This record gives sequence, structure tokens and C-alpha cells, in this order.
Amino acid sequence: MGQRHLVSAPARVETCPSCRRMVLAGMDEGLVVRADPANLNAYGELAALARGLWTYDYGPARELWLRTVHTIKLRRHPVLADHVCGAAMVPAAHRGPGPTPRFMPSNPVDPPY
Ligand SMILES: [Zn+2]
Repeated sequence: MGQRHLVSAPARVETCPSCRRMVLAGMDEGLVVRADPANLNAYGELAALARGLWTYDYGPARELWLRTVHTIKLRRHPVLADHVCGAAMVPAAHRGPGPTPRFMPSNPVDPPY
């Protein structure tokens, strides 16, 4: 059996149809991903994982990459968690430095002005 190439696509800003919050929706390895835009620090990621959520790196071309045992030690990009409808907002103590991805330009090569 040959190597499989599954579809991945850049994330888009969407409104969750259930709770009306803004989410980043994309596709990673053929799976639809909806993530909350809060940039998590290590404590925030640990809290998300303890709740059974997946976490993702938000790459420079707006990709959402599932963080795995091989990549979870690295923090090169904003780290986001699965969107959960109705969940409490991420507390400040669980947020990473820098802007949340929703403020990143739609095209990462565009200057932010
Ligand atoms: Zn929702």
C-alpha cells in the first residue's frame, strides 16, 4: 500500500453556527478542524489536553497542524485547542504571549499596515 496524501487546507475565520463565537476552521490530513483562536501557553495546552481536546500549531500559512507526541515540546507557532461550544473563555493565565491568531493578516506575507 502506497503512501497516502490527505488534504490539508489553510484555516479560515468562521462563526460557529451553534454558539456564534469566532473559530478558525481548516482541514488537517483530511479532517475538518475547528479551533478557538486563543493562543495557549503550556498551562493552557495542558488544561486543554486534560479536557480531552486536541491542540494544534497555527502555522505561518494559516495551517492547523495537530500537535503530537513528536511536536508537542516545540513552540514555534501559536498553539490552539479544539473549539468547544459554550466553553468558558481561556483565562489570561493560560494565554501565550502575542496576539491571538484572529489578528494575524489573512495573507501572512502582507505587512500588518
Ligand atoms: Zn461553538
